[in-house]
Amino acid sequence: MQGVAVLGCTGSIGQSTLRTLARHPDRFRVVGLTAGRNAEALAHAVAKWHPAVSGLAESGTQCLVDAASHPDVDIVVNAVVGFAGLEATLAGLAAGKRVALANKESLVAGGRLVLDAARAGGGSLVPIDSEHSAVLQCLQHGQGASQVARITLTASGGPFRTWPSDRVEHATVAEALSHPTWRMGKKISVDSATLANKALEIIEAHFLFGLGYDRLDVVVHPQSVVHAFVEFVDGNVVSQLGFPDMELPILYALTHPDRILDAGPQRFDPVAAGTLTFEPVRHDTFPAFALGVTAGKCGGAAPTVFNAANEVAVERFLAGAIRFGDIPRSIEAVLADSPHGPPTDLAALRQVDQWARIRCEEFLR
Ligand code: MG
Repeated sequence: MQGVAVLGCTGSIGQSTLRTLARHPDRFRVVGLTAGRNAEALAHAVAKWHPAVSGLAESGTQCLVDAASHPDVDIVVNAVVGFAGLEATLAGLAAGKRVALANKESLVAGGRLVLDAARAGGGSLVPIDSEHSAVLQCLQHGQGASQVARITLTASGGPFRTWPSDRVEHATVAEALSHPTWRMGKKISVDSATLANKALEIIEAHFLFGLGYDRLDVVVHPQSVVHAFVEFVDGNVVSQLGFPDMELPILYALTHPDRILDAGPQRFDPVAAGTLTFEPVRHDTFPAFALGVTAGKCGGAAPTVFNAANEVAVERFLAGAIRFGDIPRSIEAVLADSPHGPPTDLAALRQVDQWARIRCEEFLR
């Protein structure tokens, strides 16, 4: 029996995780539950699962660290949104846990620090992100980075894939939230619409799989059936497929490297999947993608700055305060201003994050 902490249990990934855990009561028990600010939904989950530790992050973030490092927890499902998830990732890894990571922002912002915490504490990182789960599954025979020529992540292209640039500039909140293939939370839905999400995922892949940015690629694939391609040095390409359902990568993150029988997600049917198409990223229409990848390549504080500026801009967009086109514009301005060298500890990282948030708010005012 493995103990699981679900951080962000009332969100989309959190709810999918609890549904997955409910199908396997012989294998997993819920030890920790946290939510951001939805007290009612948290109370409902606590009444059902009776976790040893629970808390609302809005009332104090210590509950995240307590749940992530609780002695009865073996697996931390980190489904917190944004930089707020970083401390729990670090705490879980430092305490030797498996961290099943849906909070890609903690790896983007924390990069080297997160890997160091895993090494020092004996914890391990397993991605929940569907594309990275796909890569992990393609690497099942233990191939290291030296045998991989190239990893290509797929991107749905988001709701504005075929829109002309001038229309994207003025897209509304409702339009940005209507993702064609995945049902997700608001922040990641907007990130998918700007393609900032795919830049975050390139940086995530860089740290998870140890590949240089010159060997990481993205292709637009509107059907979201193929989740990634791994091309090996001999030219063979391995891929992972499935209907878009986060319960597939969630269960795999819990059981990796094993697989268990699961009757949850709809079984794959290639005929029902229909025609699969691939197209290049339209860089001119979605500048946030290149900004993020460039930040990743620059390294140091740049990915932390990119992430923080993006979080602020997305929040302001969701509040109706700025245009969709202001999101990449503000990220670019903040990145251009950043005077920071590589952050060497959590305090320095927090300083960079705070600076970028304030700078982004100033720019958008
Ligand atoms: Mg993804």
